[in-house]
Amino acid sequence: MIQYPVFAGRFWHITDLHLDPSYHLAQDPTKVCFSSKGAPATHAGLYGDFLCDSPYSLIQSAFTNMAPLTQPEDFIIWTGDSPPHVPPDELSTDLVIQVISNMTQTITQHFPNLTVFPALGNHDYWPQDQMPDSTNDIYKAAAALWKRWLEPEALTTLSQGGFYSQLVKPGLRLLSLNTILYYGPDKVTINMTDPAGQFEWLEKTLEKSAQSKEKVYVIAHVPVGYLPFVGNTTAIRKSHNERLVAIFRKYSHVVAGQFYGHTHRDSIMVLLDEQGYPVNSLFVSPAVTPIKSFWEQYSNNPGFRMYLYSNKDYSVMDIWQYYLNLTEANEKQRSDWRLEYIMTEAFGLSDLQPKSLLQLGLSFMLPQSKAFDKYFSHFMVDYNSSIRTESRHDHSLICCDWTELLPSYAKLIPTFLPQKRLRPWKS
Ligand SMILES: [Zn+2]
Ligand SMILES: [Zn+2]
Repeated sequence: MIQYPVFAGRFWHITDLHLDPSYHLAQDPTKVCFSSKGAPATHAGLYGDFLCDSPYSLIQSAFTNMAPLTQPEDFIIWTGDSPPHVPPDELSTDLVIQVISNMTQTITQHFPNLTVFPALGNHDYWPQDQMPDSTNDIYKAAAALWKRWLEPEALTTLSQGGFYSQLVKPGLRLLSLNTILYYGPDKVTINMTDPAGQFEWLEKTLEKSAQSKEKVYVIAHVPVGYLPFVGNTTAIRKSHNERLVAIFRKYSHVVAGQFYGHTHRDSIMVLLDEQGYPVNSLFVSPAVTPIKSFWEQYSNNPGFRMYLYSNKDYSVMDIWQYYLNLTEANEKQRSDWRLEYIMTEAFGLSDLQPKSLLQLGLSFMLPQSKAFDKYFSHFMVDYNSSIRTESRHDHSLICCDWTELLPSYAKLIPTFLPQKRLRPWKS
């Protein structure tokens, strides 16, 4: 049994479950799952296939393996995307609500005594990505489903705009943002300066926390800043990204950590202030679903993680990343989720403060950086070590001159930018 440091608080992060209820071991590999969109899932097994979203057995095995590692004082953050990657006519508002409800029940069954703080993902809506700036059946359903975890005030803003804030414990507040309102493909909010009034609410809430001397964890599905796989592209549309970055800079002394999903890959980012000083650490957790597109070179093994944080100032101290080797699990018909890495140990860091993470990111640019190889392997949750070797030739080219390359609107340093020529995965 692994021993965690006793002085630290802990919480879990799960994201992008993407349940595919159609998954089954069919004779014809093109019929295994709707989410492969007709591509042959030739390695399909009990726990899934890299061309499919999660079978229920994979999600069950993740929570079954997490449960014995859990302590009574832990809590869970869950950053969205429950439905599968299938064409819109395969789903409906009712089906999306059914999948979110199913996942909520599954989590509750495994962790009946823990508080779970969810955030909505771009797939938690129908049609996907098109989240509106006002109340609707899905926000209302989410508020009804998450009643056991959230307080009345949080449920009110959740049902109105898909976001909320709640005190985790005295001195620590959690803000769950609906960043889908700022997501490029959301056509509903495209010309709005402050959809659902979330920016105003965010500033007000952070100001109140500052005055009450609270620290804040921000959770959301789509991350602020640059996507890790394509040079200077943000997932959030530029004007909204700029506003969000400005707010996070202003309140960087209040925000003790930011936690995201959506990219399905493991990565870190550092927020710099106007002078280029690192002020915030941002963490993007890899997905539970192993899905990749047919043409895509790499994917991720299923993962979930634990954060260790200081009970004094709520700074994030470490990450314990767990994973399932999907190929091995299918072969053995057994799901042995294992510790993949401990962040401070893997990179020889004393903490995960913005300064330390920026230093780590800068070290990736050094020729023959061993740290970069490790980071890239973690990025894919140990999916395939041969890809890691290949990418090495590219990383210096991609990472170079980042200070010049970044436009002023978002001085967020993606500490890792893999090959530009790979087409981005549409999460
Ligand atoms: Zn997503
Ligand atoms: Zn996703």
